[in-house]
Amino acid sequence: METDDIFAAVEKIQSESRKSEKDKFIEETVKYEKKVYDLEQLVEIGLAFSSTLNFDNLIESIVYMSMAQMHVMGGEIFVRDFTTNEYLTLATSKDIITREALKITTNSILAKKLLEIHEPITFDELQKLLPPCEELQLIKQFNPTLIVPLVDKSRLNGILILLERIVIENDSSYFADELAQMKSIAKLASVAITNASLLEISSTDMMTQLKLKYYFLNMLSDSLTTAFERERNLSVLMFDIDFFKKFNDTYGHECGDYVLITVASLIKNSLRGSDIAGRYGGEEFTVLLDGASKDDAMIVAERIRSTIEHHDFVYNNQHLHVTISGGISVFDVDTNPVSNPNEFINQADKGLYLSKNNGRNRVTFFDPNN
Ligand code: GH3
Ligand code: MG
Ligand code: MG
Repeated sequence: METDDIFAAVEKIQSESRKSEKDKFIEETVKYEKKVYDLEQLVEIGLAFSSTLNFDNLIESIVYMSMAQMHVMGGEIFVRDFTTNEYLTLATSKDIITREALKITTNSILAKKLLEIHEPITFDELQKLLPPCEELQLIKQFNPTLIVPLVDKSRLNGILILLERIVIENDSSYFADELAQMKSIAKLASVAITNASLLEISSTDMMTQLKLKYYFLNMLSDSLTTAFERERNLSVLMFDIDFFKKFNDTYGHECGDYVLITVASLIKNSLRGSDIAGRYGGEEFTVLLDGASKDDAMIVAERIRSTIEHHDFVYNNQHLHVTISGGISVFDVDTNPVSNPNEFINQADKGLYLSKNNGRNRVTFFDPNN
């Protein structure tokens, strides 16, 4: 070999080694950049979860963020029922035939297995770990790809089900770093569910499942501030059951309770998710309609009144005729710029008083300028 050739060969080897070092360096850098990106995402997600105290919003946010992070087209979630702790209920959709929420009991083998595994597992792997059972069949109908147990303090707070995966480079399986990311998101989600459920329980009247007075007033106070800043409308409805005492006196306190619970659920079912219904007192209910003008509020109030009047209340084979009276107050920066939540509710109460005096089973708008 000529000296020149030797130099050329050495030069070639050195250049290749430099190249492979450079490639390696680039590869490592990309890896670290990805890690930093994933961590930044986790911080964002953790902040979003912990600052969402509204239970329904939190659940929605858990599903959507997990879907985006795991590149899947859909997601469903079962959430623990925190009042009984006996089952997990499907929060994202209802059975298409019965329209009932699907349930998985907390002591089913599926729930117990997921609590034990407490990390994401593909549906195929999960199937191998369990004997055929009703609960597996139930989740199988969604065509799940990944099952994510949401565990906090040794309790199964939820079961997140990820559906069809977006295929990346002909591969639809989950990568190890994605599963690790999902595991961290699941941990953040589980803690957030515990926290939101504590607020949910302490702010909810257990009998009617409506919000308690103090919570309602707090929400109203915040909404009044926002309505003032954005110059938007905001309405409050106040309802009281007509001659309620007669149900207690004639058929007993339990009958009164039945009427209360049914009226509460009819009110709640007449509202949108963003509206807030409260049990203000014994048989008095309040409703907060964010952004609702006088006309909107009148329509909603009248719909609720009419729904209750036409509902067939049956207690111990007795058909009961139940009606309610209502009052309406509307915040408006120009015509009614009220800032005190108690004062605002008092206005609705004055409308209610007029409804009672004018024969009951009606709703009345309180005009502050009259
Ligand atoms: P009005 O049409 O004027 O409203 O007549 P009313 O009979 O409804 O009168 P009022 O609003 O004063 O009656 C309230 C009654 O509600 C009195 C109280 O014993 C009863 N009550 C309050 N809380 C409960 C409860 O949790 N369960 C039952 N069963 N009754 C309750
Ligand atoms: Mg009353
Ligand atoms: Mg009453």
